[in-house]
Amino acid sequence: MRFSSLYIPTLKESPAEAEVISHKLLLRAGMIRKLTSGLYTYLPLGLRVLQKISAIVREEMERAGFQEVLLPMVQPADLWRETGRWEHYGKELLRFKDRNERDYCLGPTHEEVMTDLVRGEIKSYRQLPLRLYQLHTKFRDEMRPRFGLMRGREFIMKDAYSYDADLAGAQESYRIMHEAYTRIFTRLGLKFRAVEADTGSIGGNFSHEFMVLADSGEDTIAYCHDCDFAANLERADVVYHEAVTKAPCQAMESVATPGAHTVEEVASLLGVGQDKIVKTMIFAVDGQAVAVLVRGDHEVNDVKLGRFLKANQVELASPDLVERVTQAPLGFAGPVGLAIPIYADNSLLGGNDYVVGANQGDTHLRHVDLARDTKITAYADLRSIKASDPCPRCGGSISLTRGIEVGHIFMLGTKYSQAMHATVLNEQGVETTMIMGCYGIGISRIMAAAIEQNHDDAGIVFPWQIAPFSCILINLDLKNAEVCAKVEWLYELLCRQGVEVLLDDRDERAGVKFKDADLLGIPLQLVLGGKSLARGVVEATVRASHEKCELPLEGFADAFAAWQAKAQSL
Ligand code: ATP
Ligand code: MG
Repeated sequence: MRFSSLYIPTLKESPAEAEVISHKLLLRAGMIRKLTSGLYTYLPLGLRVLQKISAIVREEMERAGFQEVLLPMVQPADLWRETGRWEHYGKELLRFKDRNERDYCLGPTHEEVMTDLVRGEIKSYRQLPLRLYQLHTKFRDEMRPRFGLMRGREFIMKDAYSYDADLAGAQESYRIMHEAYTRIFTRLGLKFRAVEADTGSIGGNFSHEFMVLADSGEDTIAYCHDCDFAANLERADVVYHEAVTKAPCQAMESVATPGAHTVEEVASLLGVGQDKIVKTMIFAVDGQAVAVLVRGDHEVNDVKLGRFLKANQVELASPDLVERVTQAPLGFAGPVGLAIPIYADNSLLGGNDYVVGANQGDTHLRHVDLARDTKITAYADLRSIKASDPCPRCGGSISLTRGIEVGHIFMLGTKYSQAMHATVLNEQGVETTMIMGCYGIGISRIMAAAIEQNHDDAGIVFPWQIAPFSCILINLDLKNAEVCAKVEWLYELLCRQGVEVLLDDRDERAGVKFKDADLLGIPLQLVLGGKSLARGVVEATVRASHEKCELPLEGFADAFAAWQAKAQSL
């Protein structure tokens, strides 16, 4: 295709609204434009990338025995009431009414609609397994849409669902999908890791997230150096070894700590280590205030808290609520005398002689023995793992790294099929509930994640599998008829060979063309001008490595093929 006839509005500067590199580069490369918060338009080049990603995903889904369908985006509330999610799904679910005052929502996911389809048609175990998928636009009214395509409100997802007659079948569906995802992300040319994950609001009993490794990722992954353990922070259990000895603790006393709000400030004022401070965090768990205690050098993991309390919603308490339950200004909450349930992290079990907030302004309590001085409702694993903790599986050493969640597979069990009465008659003629799995891939998020992982100062460096074109051919000398004729000849020849070429035939300065070629991230760059033509060569550059060479015009087809093969193998 010709640059001059494509709509590729590249920008020299990155727009102020963009915080992360993929967002900046997608805007600068003229691939996307923002309509309003969390809503983006794909321009021709961006759409090509999206289609490349989609094609690989489709191929692998078909290979795995999944069939493509297309479900409506608008969904009736009644289906969501059957599973209880109409009430429980948070504000991400955009609810609205039609002209007849009936309730609807925009689909953030399609378990209900898919299961409604399946229960209407499938009656016998002989019709199972049934494995279906779609590539579709989802809408989630995210609290903080940000980072461009990374967390949009409207985004494109591949969602797949499996229905099996028994657990063994469901496990096989899950295994097939795990394998398909591994193939997909490998083929997309991404560095990724499959990690054990929390099952979140969808529920069920087993799940893996597929993470693209990138420093800008919103998720933290813990992985072991000594075994194959890898999990996200919510799922990485902290193994607790109880301290054997417990030194006696003197009587609790209150101490003035004017202006000391943070753990660091209190620790340095009182001359104790941060591990001797107990942080008291107040949470609203399904609307009820609870206190959570962790050591000063640890962080509460609210997903673990929610799982432990079997809660639907866990939020940090509002300043109002904190002040109400502690009767004190913010920053001085403590467990002594607190009249709400108190949950403490396991790592506090072995020790004493702690410093805690006194529920009174500018005051802390020291020499606190939690067993003696407070009423702990329960101890549990409530904090995030740290690099200094042992691997929960083998005791080896843990590292933390950042990742972007691009895919998620769940074994759902019968959570939805039971609620929606999706049953079949089994071999014995007995009615049994179908066992489900669901499997998502963030197609549009992959576009951003691939760029987070593959860019340099000059712009995008697309993995060749998803680049909008594989080669850009730059005509340096539009006024030279001989050069133009040769460029046309090269263009035709490459097209005939099945190479996807973008011909930069714009009447622009060489510098602008080079800059744009780098910015767009097309893997192979070819340049022809008067001088190279006189020498009978084309200048060739590999975008990723900046490695340059010259390809002879004589026997060009073979030289190009060899060069391309070499570049792709790197
Ligand atoms: P996250 O934790 O990032 O919100 P999620 O757990 O809500 O993700 P799923 O419900 O499992 O995500 O959705 C499947 C996939 O859809 C995710 O793995 C992710 O790649 C993608 N996805 C989810 N939310 C968004 C969004 N707001 N914008 C773009 N992609 C998204
Ligand atoms: Mg989400």
